[in-house]
Order: sequence, then C-alpha cells, then structure tokens
Amino acid sequence: MKLDTRAMRHLTAEDWRVLTAVEMGSKNHEIVPTPLIEKIARLKGGASGVHKSISALAKVGLIARMKEAKYDGYRLSYGGLDYLALHTHAARKHVYSVGSRIGVGKESDIMIVADEKGTQRVLKIHRLGRISFRTVKNNRDYLRNRQSASWMYLSRLAAIKEFAFMQALREEGFPVPEPIAQSRHTIVMTLVDAPPLRQIASVPDPAALYAELISLILRLAKHGLIHGDFNEFNILIREDRADEQDPDSPITLTPVLIDFPQMVSMDHPNAEMYFDRDVECIKRFFSRRFHFVSTTPGPFFKDAKKTVGHDGARRLDAVVEASGFTKKMAKDLEAAIREKEANSKENAEDSDGMEYESDEDDEEAEGRDSDSGDDGPLVIGDRIVNTEEGLEKLTINDGT
Ligand code: ADP
Ligand code: MG
Repeated sequence: MKLDTRAMRHLTAEDWRVLTAVEMGSKNHEIVPTPLIEKIARLKGGASGVHKSISALAKVGLIARMKEAKYDGYRLSYGGLDYLALHTHAARKHVYSVGSRIGVGKESDIMIVADEKGTQRVLKIHRLGRISFRTVKNNRDYLRNRQSASWMYLSRLAAIKEFAFMQALREEGFPVPEPIAQSRHTIVMTLVDAPPLRQIASVPDPAALYAELISLILRLAKHGLIHGDFNEFNILIREDRADEQDPDSPITLTPVLIDFPQMVSMDHPNAEMYFDRDVECIKRFFSRRFHFVSTTPGPFFKDAKKTVGHDGARRLDAVVEASGFTKKMAKDLEAAIREKEANSKENAEDSDGMEYESDEDDEEAEGRDSDSGDDGPLVIGDRIVNTEEGLEKLTINDGT
C-alpha cells in the first residue's frame, strides 16, 4: 500500500473530526456503526455535516463502508490510519512535508519526510497483519479467531516496540538512527545517509568490518538483546573520513543498525536459535560477497549468555515492558512476525521451486526478500537528491 497524501489538503476540519471518530470507534468495534460515528464526532465538536464528511472520507478511501448482517458501518483503512498519524506528526512539528518512498517491504513503507527547516527524516509506516492468500487458505480457522489481533493493532505494536528499542539503544550509545516520534503505526527517525550493506560491492578490509559487526552482536547480547534480523538490509554502512577536508585521509566504515520490531531477549526460549541465525547471516554474507571467512569459530550463544549484564551493562530487554508493552502485546506481535517470516519463506519456495535462499548467487532470488523495493535496488543516495524537490508540504485544515 502506498502512502498517498494528495487528498489530505482537501479534508476539512469536520472531516478530520469524523476520521478521528471512526478511529476511536474502532477501539471497540471491528466495524464502527454509523450512529456511533455520528455520536463521537458530535461530542467532539457540534452537530453538523457528519454524513457529508463520511461520504467525503469514503470517497478517497480513508474509511470503507462495510455491510454486515447485523448492521452497516465503517472501518478505517490503512490510508485513514496513515493520515491520522501524519496529522499528529505535523501538529507536533515533527513532519512538515512528505517526499518519496525509499523502501517498501511486505510489512512496511519507508518514506523520506522533512521538518520545517527542510531537514530530511525517515517515516517508517508499519504494515503488519496483511494476510496473504496462502495464509488464509492454510489457517482459516486460526485467523477467524484472531480478529482482535487486527492489522491496526499489530502494526501499532510493531511501531511502539521499534521506537522503544531505538530509544534505549541510542541512549546506550549504539549506532542506530535517532528516534524522533511515534504515532500509531508509524515512527519518525533521523535519515542515515548510508547505503545498506547489501549494496556494498567491496570493502578495503572485510575482516575489520566483520569483526565490528560481530562485536555489535556481542554488545547487544551483553545488554540482554538479540536483533533477530541482523542481515545486509538492516545494516547501513556509513563512510566516515578521518579528516573531512582531506579527500586522501582514511575512511572508516561504521555500521548503523536499523529495524527492531523483532528483537528478542537473551532469555527468550529460542534465544540460541535467533542468536545463531544472526551470526550465521553475517558469516554467509561475508563469504558470498567478500569471499571472507573468519578463522575464528563462533561466537557462541553459551559464551554470550555469560556476559549478559556484565561490567554494569544495563539490560535493555526489559525496556519494552517498562514502556507499558504488556506480555500479551509482546506475544501477539511475536506471533504475527513469526507468521510473516514463515510466509516469506513459503512464498520464496513457491515462486522458484527451490528452498529459500538456496540459490546463493542469484541476486534475483535474494531480491524477493521483503526489504526489496518494488522498483529495483534502492539507491538511497540518489533518491535523496531526487526527493528534495519532490517534497510536498502537508496541508492540514483541522481548524487548529
Ligand atoms: P522493514 O521492516 O520493511 O525491513 P527497515 O526498517 O529495515 O524496514 O527499512 C527498510 C529499508 O529502508 C532499509 O533496508 C533501508 O534501506 C531503508 N531505511 C530504513 N530506515 C532508514 C533510515 N533511518 N535511514 C536511511 N535508510 C533507512
Ligand atoms: Mg529491514
């Protein structure tokens, strides 16, 4: 789903109020009955053209009419939730304009946005819980019982969790983007002007970069965490020149870590599997891309486990719970993320008749990963230049 802000400028203050009313009504209703929308919208600001607003919102696809056996009503669409989130970011002055999309996965959209001063930022819109046809076919009964774990709820959980971890990691001095704001299923963070490792064809010293990445995995472990998706798409490689003025001064490569909704605790029942998988992912990539294989075996989970909390390392795995994220929320989100993983695996097997990632040098097969863009490889640097003119100011007529 693409974020389309075109209709935003045409919405009236009343339309925004009605859209908010539909969102509020969705807390208790899968389909919000029309009289309830009227009631909430009126409570919020005088009686008037609620119906006119409902039609206007439905026309641009921000809400959708649902005909149920018992009653008629409306449901918020992804677009509607996107608008509400953007509205909040704009009102809090975290986002002033929206540019182009730099990344799209099955479960997220990554947009370039800017603040009032024109500083570019990244808006990540989580889109969890979209159900593939295959999943529906295989899990019909399960899904019927999973109505409460709706896309809206799951996507919001992903954003809350990602924001909390980004904040905690940043405070602890980890190389991650700076988290700026979170609203509903979205987060705003600083733009890291660096390509993903995936796009790096060669590096001067693969051993040094490999060591740095392994030490990042171990440092996370010391703080009680496993990234859980430590792959070449989620590691951005920044080039820092020792002396900015001198083009001949040496360059250091600094990895910046992103994408945290799937992070797990070192105490997770499957921690060892996730830890090993993260390590394996880096080993495999370095061997394929840079023909580098470390002579040191490991690192091993059992050794990393012994370091948790050592040298006064603050445990960050408790952070999300501390932010009000209940055990039930964690469980719901985890189930959705595992389901997504299983799906992309199934789809990959389906589409090429081979095992997932078995075709090691086939870039195409890898490109089917959920992180890949819908229009070829992401050349972030180029896109950023392009979007500077393309940034569109958000116009919000909410009467505030
Ligand atoms: P997903 O959950 O869909 O994998 P990611 O957070 O990994 O989402 O982002 C997808 C892609 O968008 C990344 O691989 C990266 O290329 C780009 N990206 C995400 N966040 C940033 C950022 N803060 N700065 C620069 N690029 C980013
Ligand atoms: Mg990613």
